[in-house]
Formats: sequence, C-alpha cells, structure tokens
Amino acid sequence: MPSPTTAPSTLEHGELFIGGQWLPAAAGGRRDVVDPSTGNAVGTVAEGDAGDIDAAVAAARAAFDQGPWRGMSGRERARILHRVADLIRENADELVRLESLDVGKPVTLCRVVDVATAAEVYEYYSGLAQAVDGATRETPMNAVAYTRREPLGVVGAITPFNFPLILSSSKIAPALAAGNVVVHKPADDTPLSALFMAKLLSEAGVPDGVVNVVTGAGAVAGEALLRHPGVDKIAFTGSTAIGRHAAAVAGEALTPVTMELGGNAAQIVFEDADVEKAVGSAIKAFVFNTGQFCMGGPRLLVARPLYDTLLGILAQAVPGVPVGDPRDPETVVGPMAAERHVAKVESYVAQAVADGGRIVCGGERLALNGGFYFKPTVIADLANDSRVVQEEIFGPVLTVQPFDTEDEAIAMANSTPYGLASGIQTTNLARAHRVAARLDAGIVWVNDWAMLDPAVPFGGVKASGFGREYGPEGLAPYTRDKSVVISLD
Ligand code: NAD
Repeated sequence: MPSPTTAPSTLEHGELFIGGQWLPAAAGGRRDVVDPSTGNAVGTVAEGDAGDIDAAVAAARAAFDQGPWRGMSGRERARILHRVADLIRENADELVRLESLDVGKPVTLCRVVDVATAAEVYEYYSGLAQAVDGATRETPMNAVAYTRREPLGVVGAITPFNFPLILSSSKIAPALAAGNVVVHKPADDTPLSALFMAKLLSEAGVPDGVVNVVTGAGAVAGEALLRHPGVDKIAFTGSTAIGRHAAAVAGEALTPVTMELGGNAAQIVFEDADVEKAVGSAIKAFVFNTGQFCMGGPRLLVARPLYDTLLGILAQAVPGVPVGDPRDPETVVGPMAAERHVAKVESYVAQAVADGGRIVCGGERLALNGGFYFKPTVIADLANDSRVVQEEIFGPVLTVQPFDTEDEAIAMANSTPYGLASGIQTTNLARAHRVAARLDAGIVWVNDWAMLDPAVPFGGVKASGFGREYGPEGLAPYTRDKSVVISLD
C-alpha cells in the first residue's frame, strides 16, 4: 500500500481519500484538471484504478462491519450530518472556487445554487436520519411482528460532471443517514469538490472509511466499482448510454441500483400563458448551467397564435444574457465543462441547419480567453422527428416548435425517449392539473422552471432511468426492510 501523504491544502493536487487517509493512486497515475474558462490545466489529481477501488471497498467494508457508524443512533448520525451542512456553509468560498474552476460554473450561481443546495441536502437528511424506523404489524398470529429498516452496506456512488457537489450530496447524505458507507467515484473531469467534501465530512466527525473518494476514469475506476462484488448498491447518475450498461452489469450481479439518467424536457406554452413569465422561464430552462442540466428545458412548444411573438422576443432577449468569465459575478452563462461538449453542440447545430432549422440567434462558439464557450442558441422550424429535437444535446440550445391543440402538445412533449422533467405555462388551473397528469416525467413545473428542493423527489421515467433522489423517496433506496416475528406461544 502506498504511504499516506498529508491532505493537500488547496486540493488542486488531490489524492485519493481511502480509509480516512490521503493516498496517491497505487499505480501512480495522475490526471490534469482543466479550467474550462481558459482551457489551461490548473493542477492534477490522482487517477485511481481497479486496485484503488479494491482498497476503497475494503476500507468501506471494514468501516461498515467493525466501525461505529452503522450502530450509531440516528440522532448521533443526524448531528454529524448537520455539522456537514454547517461546514459547507463555513467553507462556501472555497467550494464555490473549486466548483467554478472545475466545471466553469458562474460563481454567483454556484454560491446560491450548488453550494447552498448541498448544505440543504445534508440538513434535510440529517432530519430524516432520526426517522429511519420500522412498523409493528397486526396479524392473526399469536406473535409480535415488526419491521426494521436496515442499511444496505457499501454504496458505490457514481456521479456526472455537471453538478458534482449537489449530485454527490444527494447520494452520500441519504446513504449516511441510513447508516451505510460509501465509495464515491466522481466524474473524470470534475473531481475537486468531491475531494474537498471528503475533508469536510471527516472534519464533521464521519468516521474513517465511511466515505471514500476514488477519482479516475469511468471506464476504469467506475467500471471496477460497478463490478466489485463487495458493493451492495450502486447509485448512478449520468448518461443513458452508460446507465444502460451499468444497469445491465448490476442486473447480472443482482445489485440494487438507482439510475438518474439523461433528459430532454419540453416546456409547453399555452395560448393563455403569461408571456413575460413564459419567456423568462424558457430562457432559464435552457441556459442554466450552460444547458448542461439533465432537467433543463431544451424544447419549447408554443401555441401557434404565440409562436411568432415568442420567437421575436427570444431573438431580442437571448443575445443579452451575460455570457463570459465564470469568475465575474455578473456572468449568467459560463463556458461548457470541456471542449468535447462544445464540439458536440456544434455538430447538433450543423445537423439542425441540415434538417431545415432556422438559427434565430447564437449558433456558434464564442471566442473568449481560449475557454469552451458556445453562444446561447435558439433554433426554429425543425420537424419533431429531427435528431436535434429528439436527442439530448446537453448544451445551451433551445428548439422552438408550434402546436395547435392540447393533445398535440402533450404528444410532442412525450415523444422523445426521455422522461425526466416537463413544464407547462398556463393561467388555467384546470389545464395545469390535467396536462401535468398526462406528461411522462418525474417532475412537472407549472409557470416556472427548475423549482427544486431536497424535500421534493425527482427522477426519471423511460430512458431517464428509475428511482428517486431527494425527499423520503430518496432515502428509501438506501435501506432494506427486515421483518421480525416473535412467537408468543
Ligand atoms: P457519463 O455517463 O459520461 O458519466 C457519468 C459517470 O459515470 C462518471 O462518473 C463516469 O466516469 C462514469 N462512468 C463512465 N463510464 C463508466 C463505466 N463503464 N462504468 C462505470 N462508470 C462509468 O455522464 P456525464 O457526461 O458525466 O453526465 C452527463 C449526463 O448525465 C447527461 O446525460 C445528463 O442528462 C445526465 N444527468 C442526469 C441527472 C439526473 O438526475 N437524471 C443529473 C445530472 C446529469
């Protein structure tokens, strides 16, 4: 085993966090961390592989079987999770700096969304940690029957690049609340907040080995975690393609999984909508996080009488959205997280033009400091079966399509393989309820977008996956029920 090093103060030269120690990758690998706003490498982190995953799973297993975590009262665990929330707030500046540097997120949004939400997630699950209890059951047997909710054991948490801090918190907090231990494999390119969180979790009193972080490539470290026989549950968030693979591997091993996968949500603007609200919501839905948002709204469906009006307003308003250096507090849209994401968006825009789409605004890269920028782009006149409408672009691109009837709008909204989120703009309450019930989506927003809270579950249907995060529903997959029946004879 390599010898421990001291915890790096900036974590821009991060090591693996295994069994409470900072360790270099056993095989010595390192990976560059690139600042998306310049394209420059700003440091390196350890590149873990299967051997490191083995060590992390072993440390987690030992912590589960022999450590104090599992046997601690829910109230004690709650205190520690609450302390994690406090530490996130106390270290907000550093978390904002790391998350922005790693992902290219605008610092202002990073503070009020990513960091604030992560603290709230720990706070929320600290409350639920005190309520992980079973039930007594009345039966005709001469017996006392009750259920216990027990932790599963070692959770393998695999997270994507776009919301590293929030999406790791939404797995680690409920997993810990229920008494599990975790091996976290953050996204290849955006590992910094995960490493910093390992430090905060430890400072908050999470015992050694309870949370382990192995940075590295998905195909190597991620695959090793997925296939490890010592893992009792996989909590995966990422693309549908990798999710399908992960679900198949877990299926073979009968390892329980939750799958939070891709999305391609539609926002329906009915003719009775408040147009100003609808425009604000439509823009937020596709530029937020530079369009790298699983629950973003890249498809705007507009009642035909409003179609030209809305396109005219978008053509005026979208070029005014502040795009630029994520460290500028005025910036709303930063760079994309990696060059390959910009290239993908560029190819979809070319496809849109080939399919007869009309570029209303944007449609090209923004040259700025060598960063990975793409101008927020609005595309009209595409047919519903265009790949650009049907597939997940995952960039700052909005397609706008007209519809004639409520039924047609619902059919178009439900027409892609995905079903993560959906939105309705209407002033008709009956219509809001009626349409919300018919949309294939894990969450439906009415008259706004991205209203998310740790108390409100989200998750997918169809190719967007299964299982829920947030809310009590997000805790349930980290527990299993055991029945105990005691004879009174
Ligand atoms: P990705 O699927 O490429 O990677 C996700 C994670 O899986 C990463 O940690 C990666 O290293 C790992 N991975 C890759 N190959 C693996 C393998 N063979 N075995 C095990 N792990 C492997 O996704 P991404 O590009 O990082 O993230 C973007 C995608 O995530 C989009 O499709 C987006 O919609 C989706 N997403 C979904 C949600 C949700 O809540 N449903 C949230 C955020 C992102």
